[in-house]
Amino acid sequence: MPVVGIVPHHFLAEIEYEFYKSHHISSIIGPMHELAITESILNISLSHANQANAARVTDVYLVIGRLSSIVDDSVQFYWDMISQGTLCEGAQLHFRRIPARLVCLDCREEYTLDGDLTPCPNCSSAHVKIVSGEEFLLESIEVVQT
Ligand SMILES: [Zn+2]
Repeated sequence: MPVVGIVPHHFLAEIEYEFYKSHHISSIIGPMHELAITESILNISLSHANQANAARVTDVYLVIGRLSSIVDDSVQFYWDMISQGTLCEGAQLHFRRIPARLVCLDCREEYTLDGDLTPCPNCSSAHVKIVSGEEFLLESIEVVQT
């Protein structure tokens, strides 16, 4: 079952967050449209499956930034629904969360985040900017060929 390739796909615009000393995010991305995102995953997967002359797709590998608000279960729910009758029907979704990178706007410290948003570890400033961590990528798919 060859891996077809890496299909980077950014769904979310970059946005600058600031959060206050209470650690509440002051600017939150609007509700994610998991159905639209899932449709994109399906379209990209089908396009690559066709290029690979696949009989069916068995696995889909997704990479999600730690700070993305996408809910795995919602994507899986929509996936099971919309993949019916396609080469992707029954394919297993795999979600891999990757850490976020932040930069402090006061002291320029860069740091990695693998959980909730935290202030700058160097100067404790809450005036930070997200460098990465909101991405949503379709990394690869595995197929069975005819
Ligand atoms: Zn700092």
